[in-house]
Amino acid sequence: MFASSNQVLSLFSGLQKELIQRKADGLLRQRRLLDSPQAEHIIANDTHFLSFCSNDYLGLANCPELIAAMQKAAGDSGVGSGASNLITGHHRFHDALEKQLAKFVEMPAALLFSNGYMANIGVIGALMGRHDAIFADKLNHACLNEGAYLSRAAFHRFAHNDVIALEKLLKESTANHKLIAADAVFSMDGDIAPLAEYLALCEKYDAYLYIDDAHGFGVLGEHGKGSLSHLKLKSPRIIMMATLGKAAGVAGAFVAGEQVVIDYLIQKANSYVYSTPAPPALSATLSAAVTLIENGNDLRAHLRILISILKANLDLKNWQLLPSDTAVQPLVIGGNREALALSEYLQAQGILVPAIRPPTVPMKTARLRISLSAAHSVDDVLRLANAINEAEKLITESLETV
Ligand SMILES: *Cc1c(COP(=O)(O)O)cnc(C)c1O
Repeated sequence: MFASSNQVLSLFSGLQKELIQRKADGLLRQRRLLDSPQAEHIIANDTHFLSFCSNDYLGLANCPELIAAMQKAAGDSGVGSGASNLITGHHRFHDALEKQLAKFVEMPAALLFSNGYMANIGVIGALMGRHDAIFADKLNHACLNEGAYLSRAAFHRFAHNDVIALEKLLKESTANHKLIAADAVFSMDGDIAPLAEYLALCEKYDAYLYIDDAHGFGVLGEHGKGSLSHLKLKSPRIIMMATLGKAAGVAGAFVAGEQVVIDYLIQKANSYVYSTPAPPALSATLSAAVTLIENGNDLRAHLRILISILKANLDLKNWQLLPSDTAVQPLVIGGNREALALSEYLQAQGILVPAIRPPTVPMKTARLRISLSAAHSVDDVLRLANAINEAEKLITESLETV
């Protein structure tokens, strides 16, 4: 007998019900159809927009030099890796990029992953085990948490950036090995974790520090080396991860740390071992991107100017720009409907800024995640600030009258 179709349908009707509820709660997510390269001016759903949505903080995703590098590399190395890293998939282009990245971030060794999600679940899952403990900021990116679940280590979460709460947990822990895991720059808040304090706690309690620098790499620190350089931190206790699909403009991620850590991950990180690496042509493109990052002080200076212009030109009563000196500038609105109304108002003006709602952010802190890029002009940012200033008056009045 085949499974009765009723059983299958009951699963599907449950899914349908959940989707309908999501929509009623104003939480249904919808994809836009992009018809242009990722850039500051895009065509989405057949409409031109000024966009503040991408994580392409240096404007490299559509950089002619990188497009040419990828075309050439595809000619030299083909379009696919064809086998996992431990069979025949590890190409010289991958190897060269790993060495370049390790040198750039001033760590002994680095290892490439297909993306940041795979890196986090693979690394934490491999390094930590049943008798260990992981200490994680409550606002960490979801994939750090999933890495922790996969590891089967004890999992402790502490309030955002709360060094005192973290120390209390560390002091009480009897775990074999302890790992503090945190976003270096928080993706929905734009603030920087107190990593110097975390490192001091690592020394005091014999713990290790895993930082996810998805939003700091390329943007912060000397030559864009990232958050560790920004805070001038160095220690063999640190393992860092950064994505290559954000400021680096392409795709992928790398983990950097002591040689023994990287050697171990090559054997034991399942998302590395049992997965086909990204095409070598991407690595060759990324090598060119990392050189652009290194030589990109002008891009970062322009980005900092845009950040200060946004702050100086927003004139708001109720909505609050969170204190952030990174490219991520969150504007907290509060209610889901109000945040959505603002996002829709801006969209009608030809400006795209995503509304971020629970569960991605805590309840009652729905926000616009304004993401600035060195590709934006001063006029682009002034246009955004003026539109938001006007929207606050209109939306606050219209919600008061319902
Ligand atoms: C985007 C992001 C990731 C995932 O990286 P991908 O390369 O996009 O898979 C991990 N951590 C943080 C903090 C991120 O923002």
